[in-house]
Amino acid sequence: MLQKKNEYLSGENILFAVEENFTHYLQQQGLRKTPERYALLEYIYSKQGHWDIESLYYEFVKENLQVSRATVYNTVELLLDCNLVIKHQFGNAGSCLYEKAYNNTHHHIICSRCKSIREFNNKVVKSIIHLLPLRGLRVSHYSLYIYGICAKCNKELSKEKQLKNKN
Ligand SMILES: [Zn+2]
Ligand SMILES: [Zn+2]
Repeated sequence: MLQKKNEYLSGENILFAVEENFTHYLQQQGLRKTPERYALLEYIYSKQGHWDIESLYYEFVKENLQVSRATVYNTVELLLDCNLVIKHQFGNAGSCLYEKAYNNTHHHIICSRCKSIREFNNKVVKSIIHLLPLRGLRVSHYSLYIYGICAKCNKELSKEKQLKNKN
């Protein structure tokens, strides 16, 4: 992927690059370039944050022409296969969440108590990744999952503790 080189692309240029990648992929796989697939790609790249396929389907249908649930599921599978969408399994929660992947390298902080997921980016992490001996791997993208108890939950927990001690 051209992820690293295109780090500072604007939204419009990202969409252009992403569509080009998708076209290349569909051609290579001998798949049809249907307007529904491109509309979904564009919609996904207009979204911020994480989503599940079922909500994507409902949102998409609300805003656009009729599209079948199967087409939505199938298109997301294709986008995963060509690395334009990334799938996350945060913690042991049953369902998977997805997000756009191109030009979108970042990390996730996950609270094991309230299950909140926050994103962060850090230059130090980035420079360390590029210094690591990765057995010849040419890095395209990466994502760290950092689990713990968030500040809000820590506060609540210490309040609960205080109350317990009083009683
Ligand atoms: Zn994310
Ligand atoms: Zn929390």
